[in-house]
Amino acid sequence: MTDWPHLIRDVPDFPKPGIVFKDITPLLADRAGFAAAIDAMAQPWRDARLDAVIGIESRGFILGAALAYVLGVGFVPVRKPGKLPARTLSQEYALEYGSDHLHIHADALPKGARAVLIDDVLATGGTLLAAHALAERLGVAVVGAAVLVELGFLGGRQRWDAAAPLHAVLRY
Ligand code: AMP
Repeated sequence: MTDWPHLIRDVPDFPKPGIVFKDITPLLADRAGFAAAIDAMAQPWRDARLDAVIGIESRGFILGAALAYVLGVGFVPVRKPGKLPARTLSQEYALEYGSDHLHIHADALPKGARAVLIDDVLATGGTLLAAHALAERLGVAVVGAAVLVELGFLGGRQRWDAAAPLHAVLRY
């Protein structure tokens, strides 16, 4: 198997002092590494009878679109405010300082559709929980969530209290 985890680079003090940013762009640029990472992310969901993957802006779009293609399902974006053109549902979530919102198109998926949530990094878990709330408000059956990297020391998994499994390919 291709050795790809080393293609995820630590960038200290980005976007602000004290944060070590997990930069996946070297992985995305590597033909074999990108493919191996997507295959690893897809593995738990191959027999999950999914209708769609729901990708969170913005690196969740890159991974989520590739996963949708590999799994043979649709792709639905969860976006920051002011980006989706049609009617949306909005969900507030807490940031380190203050709060923000995520949106999904109100007609993105039919009730009962089976979907997995996708992002690149699980940190405190607020983003993934907000996406989960949006999917539930649509009536979507959230079969699980998948991230490439889990930053275990930030406790995101403990906040993920949904019944659905949370799959992380790499854990730091
Ligand atoms: P959180 O809501 O705290 O779990 O943060 C997750 C979101 O922020 C994801 O969309 C990640 O892309 C991004 N993120 C948070 N921390 C990092 C980090 N150390 N490196 C890269 N992305 C991060």
